[in-house]
Amino acid sequence: MTIEAAWPELSKLLGDRITRSKSELETHGASESYFPLTLPDAVAYPENTQEVSALVTICAAHSVPVIGWGAGTSLEGQAQAFQGGICVDFSRMNRILEVSQGDMDARVQPGLTREVLNEKLRATGLFFPVDPGANASIGGMASTRASGTTAVRYGTMRDNVLGLEVVLADGRVIRTGTRARKSSAGYDLTGLFVGAEGTLGLITELTLRLHGQPEAVTSAVCAFDTIGDAVRAVTDAIQMGIPMARVEFVDAATVQVFNEYAGAGMPEAPHLLLEFHGSPTSVAEDAESFGEIVADHQGHGFQWASGAEERKALWTLRHHAYWAILQTRPGTRAVVTDICVPISRLAEAVEATQADLDAQGIRGPILGHVGDGNFHAILLFDPDDTEELARVKAAADRLVDRALSMGGTATGEHGIGTGKKVFMAREHGDAWGVMGDIKRSLDPNNLMNPGKMVPDAN
Ligand SMILES: Cc1cc2nc3c(=O)[nH]c(=O)nc-3n(C[C@H](O)[C@H](O)[C@H](O)COP(=O)(O)OP(=O)(O)OC[C@H]3O[C@@H](n4cnc5c(N)ncnc54)[C@H](O)[C@@H]3O)c2cc1C
Repeated sequence: MTIEAAWPELSKLLGDRITRSKSELETHGASESYFPLTLPDAVAYPENTQEVSALVTICAAHSVPVIGWGAGTSLEGQAQAFQGGICVDFSRMNRILEVSQGDMDARVQPGLTREVLNEKLRATGLFFPVDPGANASIGGMASTRASGTTAVRYGTMRDNVLGLEVVLADGRVIRTGTRARKSSAGYDLTGLFVGAEGTLGLITELTLRLHGQPEAVTSAVCAFDTIGDAVRAVTDAIQMGIPMARVEFVDAATVQVFNEYAGAGMPEAPHLLLEFHGSPTSVAEDAESFGEIVADHQGHGFQWASGAEERKALWTLRHHAYWAILQTRPGTRAVVTDICVPISRLAEAVEATQADLDAQGIRGPILGHVGDGNFHAILLFDPDDTEELARVKAAADRLVDRALSMGGTATGEHGIGTGKKVFMAREHGDAWGVMGDIKRSLDPNNLMNPGKMVPDAN
């Protein structure tokens, strides 16, 4: 790799929009999770597809790695330049290019954040439902195949990206998909790039599926004596076809944090937080049907509300949970891990995880999008204590182990990066080798986000 050799051409292309300033490198070398600061060689801020293509072409000629950067909120080291190279920050490519109300879709640039997208869509009566909590970029969300609180109703990025524009490792620009809602025309390349973590190309444009803003929204909250009761209530509701738009589980430790840091005044017990979307009549009926299931599972304190303020307060609590949990032990960091299991094994998986963490004396609140079998554990550790980090990582590994032995996956939404690569062979068998074959075919010199997700190049 010869960044020095590439530098004159890169500077000529981007001027002061490519930088090697220490503060920029540090901002783009950090991770929200446990990975150490790792500086890229430079940070570039392209403004259009042609610049991205020219940048990638120069990097290819000089064997310089290229790593996409959206909002830098990924949790498995995906956006870090562990092998050096140019970090391509998409924050200047953040426009909505077109909204089609009739077709309920939008063309956007990858650096747009989901919160800005939804603010700008508000007047159209449409919204983009995928909500990973963090204010991530749409390009980063597509690249990690993100999902979140609403996946139980609206699906993940896989379901909500109709098409892409991608710059390949040799600088070629391709388009995948169409604006049609379905197609039988050829390989599903959109599906291939969604979730590829930037290892196959850089996304420069996305066509998104939008949804109608519901006429009425109801939120609900209820407590349970045990984790198993809470999770089984969700499983029953799914099997009965109650259409939940969001359903989040939080354990007693998380509720304790809500009370301490936000004065939530909730009983310190496992809780479910829910939302129903529909007409005023249907959301009231759904909430009432769910209330009956809660009673069947010894749930208590079931309350539901249709006011926007109460709803906002509830989801703000949930969205700020990670930062509030970090504050419970100042100076600590967290291994934030997620797994997903078949819904019938969810209660068992959550209970076994909590027992494991208790036995190890690890502080690790559990919360998650239980409606689709997915949950997170936020495992705190002191960054100066290598023994504690090792213990916490071992617990996170056992969590994945448990998920795989239950027919689940190593990650429901956070992705692989380098953090979970070690589980890929076990989860996918020979199919992981096929992923490596695809990578070699599209990126023979291993320059697009090298070292992540696929088997290491020989
Ligand atoms: C508090 C907290 C809560 C979270 N909760 C959730 C959750 O509920 N659900 C969930 O799914 N995730 C969650 N995450 C993880 C994170 O928000 C998601 O992974 C998100 O999709 C990352 O988006 P980003 O814009 O920050 O991407 P980045 O972190 O910048 O990048 C992610 C990956 O995408 C690549 N990339 C970025 N832009 C492009 C592009 N244009 N073309 C090609 N590759 C690109 C990067 O190289 C990297 O591999 C959470 C994170 C935090 C900090």
